[in-house]
Amino acid sequence: MIKVCKFGGSSLASGEQFKKVKDIVKGDETRCVVVVSAPGRRFDGDSKITDLLYLCHAHLKYGVSYESIFELIEQRYCEIRSYCGLSCDLDSEFELIRSKMCKRMNVDYLASRGEYLNAKLMAEYLGAEFADAKDWLFFGYDGKVDFDKTNDALRKIISETPKVVIPGFYGAMPDGSIRTFSRGGSDITGAIAAAAIGAGAYENWTDVSGILMADPRIVSNPKSIEKITYAELREMSYMGAEVLHEEAVFPVRKVDIPLYIKNTNDPEAAGTLIRESFPNDLEDDDSSTRFITGISGRKHFTIITLHKVGMSGEVGLIRKALEAVERFGVPIEHVPSGVDSFSLVIASDALENCLHDMISELQTVCQPDTVKVTEDISLIAVVGRKMAFKPGVSGRLFATLGSNNINIRLIEQSADEIIIVVGVKDEDFEKTIKVLYYSFT
Ligand code: ASP
Repeated sequence: MIKVCKFGGSSLASGEQFKKVKDIVKGDETRCVVVVSAPGRRFDGDSKITDLLYLCHAHLKYGVSYESIFELIEQRYCEIRSYCGLSCDLDSEFELIRSKMCKRMNVDYLASRGEYLNAKLMAEYLGAEFADAKDWLFFGYDGKVDFDKTNDALRKIISETPKVVIPGFYGAMPDGSIRTFSRGGSDITGAIAAAAIGAGAYENWTDVSGILMADPRIVSNPKSIEKITYAELREMSYMGAEVLHEEAVFPVRKVDIPLYIKNTNDPEAAGTLIRESFPNDLEDDDSSTRFITGISGRKHFTIITLHKVGMSGEVGLIRKALEAVERFGVPIEHVPSGVDSFSLVIASDALENCLHDMISELQTVCQPDTVKVTEDISLIAVVGRKMAFKPGVSGRLFATLGSNNINIRLIEQSADEIIIVVGVKDEDFEKTIKVLYYSFT
């Protein structure tokens, strides 16, 4: 079995971090493909190399000297090289990059050098082969990854070398020029590599012990999630949790490669395992305290409620309202309804410039008796595949909120029962998350 391990910027920010990565890779001989980010922040207030590279480009563009910033970049790599006792010829690399620096240079090329140089150093440190992403990760002219070409090229490289280090974040266009993914894109490279070679596992190493059950800025020291399905992950991230980018899970999800989130600074911690499903886990555990996978939420929603006596008999009324909102290009989050009323739940940001015009349009097309606008609403999602078909979960949830004096303004549950959403006033946002976390974990 081959594992693909991707290490993020904070895992590779300094020589000390390089040492931890080496121990992790050497600790498991199946960790044969190592994908690296550029050095991230070493401490609060420090800079990420990628940010500095973009800053150099901005200076170039406006004709301002980039020298002092580029020197900072050079220094960071030289420090790692000397801490790890390496001999990689960084001077020639820096010279080559400098020779390409001009006003109209390819910004993606410059940004990609963060990963490129880090991979060079890591390859030497691990005694592994360096496989430049420009030689196997190919984009088509449409800017999308050419999976056939990419998969073949990487498979060939892996068949010839026992251990490779790959820079994340970029690949090559058909004309050979460098193209990067969006920020954080090394995660995507790791997933593409894992899928291409049919890896036994894709390990994404970062600085937290997996995906947390709740936002640590709200709940202190939240537990990490042991297992989560992709569907739950989507719900969590849509509702505000900072987890992996959709593009970064898609390649491994498609071929059902187990995806682990692990902590470079605490490699023994279990981390989080993400899979399409966990067929046996519903029987595994019937403890009433383990129904919840995680809790996430977003603030600042507006609820527009239209009330009209006899509405339930009026065919097409909700469609007219939805079309009216669509004309403003505004997405709708939820549409809870009653016999004589229905509501549109919309992110307040999206209504910033059109709320009044939209309401007058709704009045014209729906002719409601009243329209009520409730602002400053937060939506909080309780996510958990184990809630499905278990009576009593939502009852307990609402009772808990009630006994803590939290007024619920809205309730939604998806038909697959993996998520229950409650709407509360923005001022109750943090309290609601805390109350739910402490009573369900
Ligand atoms: N270094 C790039 C960034 O900071 C890509 C990555 O780390 O995934 O966005």
